[in-house]
Amino acid sequence: MGVLSRAGAGPLCAAARAGRHRRCRVQGVFLGAPVGGSGVSPGAEVIPRFWRGKCFSSGKEPAENSSVTPMLRHLKYKIKSTGPITVAEYMREVLTNPAKGYYVHRDMLGEKGDFITSPEISQIFGELLGIWFISEWMATGKSSTFQLVELGPGRGTLTGDILRVFSQLGSVLKNSDISVHLVEVSQKLSEIQAATLTEEKVPLERNAGSPVYMKGISKSGIPISWYRNLQDVPKGHSFYLAHEFFDVLPVHKFQKTPQGWREVLVDIDPQVSDKLRFVLAPCATPAEAFIQSDETRDHVEVCPDAGVIIQELSQRIAQAGGAALIADYGHDGTKTDTFRGFCGHKLHDVLLAPGTADLTADVDFSYLRRMAQGKVASLGPVTQQMFLKNMGIDVRLKVLLDNSDEPSTRQQLVQGYDMLMNSKKMGERFNFFALVPHQRLPNGSHQMNACKSKPPPAPVAGFHELAWR
Ligand code: SAH
Repeated sequence: MGVLSRAGAGPLCAAARAGRHRRCRVQGVFLGAPVGGSGVSPGAEVIPRFWRGKCFSSGKEPAENSSVTPMLRHLKYKIKSTGPITVAEYMREVLTNPAKGYYVHRDMLGEKGDFITSPEISQIFGELLGIWFISEWMATGKSSTFQLVELGPGRGTLTGDILRVFSQLGSVLKNSDISVHLVEVSQKLSEIQAATLTEEKVPLERNAGSPVYMKGISKSGIPISWYRNLQDVPKGHSFYLAHEFFDVLPVHKFQKTPQGWREVLVDIDPQVSDKLRFVLAPCATPAEAFIQSDETRDHVEVCPDAGVIIQELSQRIAQAGGAALIADYGHDGTKTDTFRGFCGHKLHDVLLAPGTADLTADVDFSYLRRMAQGKVASLGPVTQQMFLKNMGIDVRLKVLLDNSDEPSTRQQLVQGYDMLMNSKKMGERFNFFALVPHQRLPNGSHQMNACKSKPPPAPVAGFHELAWR
C-alpha cells in the first residue's frame, strides 16, 4: 500500500526513512450539500496525489471498522443530551478524548499507521531543523540554558534527530544547560517517544497526576520531561517546535448565509440514527466573534486553540527570549473548507466511524500572525522547499551520498529528498513560519536604538537565501 501524507503526499513507501531508528440545545438547519471538502465521501473524490504528511491505514481494527464506533455512541449521547455540537467540539472529542480519542491510544504514524510525516521520511529534515535552532540560539546571545520544547512530537523522531545534531556540535553547545520538554496528549505516543529518545538503563519517572507526567534522560544524557499543556512547561529562554501539530487543533466552521454568518454544527441524522450530519446553527453563535469584519470568503475555519498557543508562545519569547518554528500545511487566510479526514491512507468522510480516522484542517498562518499581536516578529510562511533549500539541504544530501556506498541507502536518500522538496509532493504544500523577538530582525525596535558600531543581526536562517560571509 502506498503511503499518503496528510497534506496529500502520494505513495512513498520506498522513500520511507531508511532503517528508521525508527456541542443551548439548538435545532440546526440541515446542510443538504456536503460542507465543502469536509463532506467528502470515501471514493467520491480523487485524492490529490501529493499532500501533507499523514496517511491513513486501517483494515486491522475489526471492532472499529464498523461505523458504529464507541466514539459515535459517545457523541450521539452527547448530542441527544445537549443538542448539536460545534465542529471544534467534534474534532476535540474525536481526536483527544482521554478515553477514546484517536490520538490517545494508538500509533498512527508511518506506513503501517495512517499517515507519514517529513521527519519519518528523511533524517535530513530533523538535522536541518537542529541547525536552525543552534543558529537562532547563537544569534540570540548563546543563553546559558537551552530549552527545546516540541508540541505534538509524534514518535519522537524529530527531536531525536535534533539531539543527534546537538551531540555532534557539542563543542558549540558545551556551556549551555540543555533540556527537552515534550507537550503530548497521547499516552501511547509518549511511550514511543520515550523508547525513541531515552536510555532504557535509566528508568523513566512517571506521575500521571502531575502536570509533568513523565521524566527521562536522553541517550546523550539530556533531561526530558513530558507535559499535557504548554502552560506547564517552565518559562525561560526556549526554542519551540511544532511540526504537523497546529493542523490537528479543533476548528470552528462558519458559512455565510443571506441571514449572516452561521456556524456549522454536527447533529444526528434524523433519517439514520447511527449517522451524523452537518447542520447550520439557526442563529449566530458566540464563536462568530472570531470572524474578521472585513472577511470576504463565504466559508471560514477558525482555530481558537491555535490562537491561544500562539499568544502563549509570543508572550514567552518576548519575555524570556528564544524562538518558535512552526511547520505545517496551510494557507495565508485564503482557503475556505479544508476540514478532512484520512483513513487507510485515503481521504475519509469526516463524520464516518469517528475515532478511527485522523481529522485535520489547514493552518491559517494569517491568523497565527494576527494572534502574535505584535509581541514578537513573525517570518513566513515560506514553502518547505525554500526553507530546506536555504538551510542547505543540497549540501547535506551530497555529504550523505558521498559517505554511502550502499545503493539502497543512496536510493532512499534521493527518494526522501524528492518527497520533501518536490513541488508536487511536500515541497510546496508545507510551510515554515517562525516567531522571533523583535530585536532579532534588522529593523527591530531594539536595533533602532542600538549602538551604531554593532553589526546588524544575521538573517534568520531558512527564511532568506544563505549568504556566506
Ligand atoms: N510532530 C510529529 C507528529 C505529528 S501528529 C511528526 O511530525 O511526525 C500530531 C501530534 O500532536 C501527535 O503526537 C499527537 O498525539 C499530538 N497532539 C494532538 N493534539 C494535541 C494536543 N491538543 N496537545 C498536545 N499534543 C497533541
